[in-house]
Amino acid sequence: MASILIRGGTLIDGTGSAARPGEDVLLRDGKVAAVGPSLAADADTEIVEAAGRTVMPGLIDAHTHLTFGEPTGNDELFNHRTEAYSSMLSAYNARKVLRAGVTSVLDADCLWNIGVELRDAIESGIVEGPRMRAGGQALMTMLGGTAGRMIADEGRTGYATVVTGRDVMVNEIRRQIKYGVDWIKIMVTGLIPSMKGPEVKVWNIDELRTVCDTAHELNTKVVAHCRNSDSTRDAARAGVDLIYHASYVDDEALEAVVEAGSALCPTFTLLGNLADYGAKIGTAPELLDVFRAEIEVTAKQLAKAHAAGVPFLAGSETGFAVTPVGEWHARELEMFVEYMGMTPMEAIVAATRNGAFAMRAEGELGTLEVGRIADVLVIDGDPLRDVRMLQDRERIVEVIKDGRRIDITTPIPERKQRASDQVRFLAACPLTRSLALTEADLERLSHV
Ligand SMILES: [Zn+2]
Repeated sequence: MASILIRGGTLIDGTGSAARPGEDVLLRDGKVAAVGPSLAADADTEIVEAAGRTVMPGLIDAHTHLTFGEPTGNDELFNHRTEAYSSMLSAYNARKVLRAGVTSVLDADCLWNIGVELRDAIESGIVEGPRMRAGGQALMTMLGGTAGRMIADEGRTGYATVVTGRDVMVNEIRRQIKYGVDWIKIMVTGLIPSMKGPEVKVWNIDELRTVCDTAHELNTKVVAHCRNSDSTRDAARAGVDLIYHASYVDDEALEAVVEAGSALCPTFTLLGNLADYGAKIGTAPELLDVFRAEIEVTAKQLAKAHAAGVPFLAGSETGFAVTPVGEWHARELEMFVEYMGMTPMEAIVAATRNGAFAMRAEGELGTLEVGRIADVLVIDGDPLRDVRMLQDRERIVEVIKDGRRIDITTPIPERKQRASDQVRFLAACPLTRSLALTEADLERLSHV
């Protein structure tokens, strides 16, 4: 494989150490071969000039749903998709993710087993996309998950599989592992329509322990959706490796997380998009404040966990109508800075080095040190001055994955609505990246 020399940029290496101007980065055979000033290049080395630009690791999005295809609701997802069409849509979406500077994703649950197959198709080179780690269908108790009664009492519905009793649970985990998952996903909270409130914990701790013990015995990690405090506490105590959301955590739950050493991926982006743009897709006005309150209350508590050394990962929940593919992956960094008080550097570490945990590639991925996998971005500007720059596609001038430059300029065909789609995503979802940045923001960014 040819070598690439990225010359003279300011290096943010992903370890959290200070940015270093005037560094060269030499990539060879898919790995970082050397880092330092004025590196020599042989005749067949491709040169990428980066003077005045930032060189950093590719982003790792630890919470995506690439097989969902941007539905406006569960009806579309559960009742109007076929396996073949969903597979093709997923492959199409994977390209968009990579072009947004996201070189790795954890896609923790999926329709059918498409996430796992997409991961393999990308690895074998027949589909272009980010490096993936994938889960199968999310495990639920009979109480269901966020889709309430739309989840059948048993068996599979869309991205979910209901596990009734210990044997079914153990067998489903073993089946998913047999068919190649990297992670087991569980929905520890769900919406119970008759309770008319926020999500409640729908698993008991013994069941959670069964899941973790069964998966861990087979060298597979567990990720859990926890939209309240007691679910976060029990998930941590049971041995869940990565917790999504951790909404409204109290001090007791935070203590459990710190003690267990679980990692957190709050995924504020989906809520942030709903709060800011939900009105445009018909979200009830009174809900907009609820979403914002959830972010504010949760972030304040999670800042304590961050201070206590809990690893934070950046996740976007990309794949819904309100989080279209390729548009919002880096917004989580902005939210970490705005709501949790992280520095831009800490937010970048969350989306690079820390993300390697989700990829089960710690020490191999997520930093630009010698010997690491050569996933690199070149950014036109300094994201340490304004981390929102990483959401601006115009600023991402180079995406390199496995030491290979990705074509980010040839346009991808636009997805049009097909006649049988029960979605209104094109008409109902006018969200684009340009909406995230106001005219004033863009004006300011252009002077950074
Ligand atoms: Zn999710």
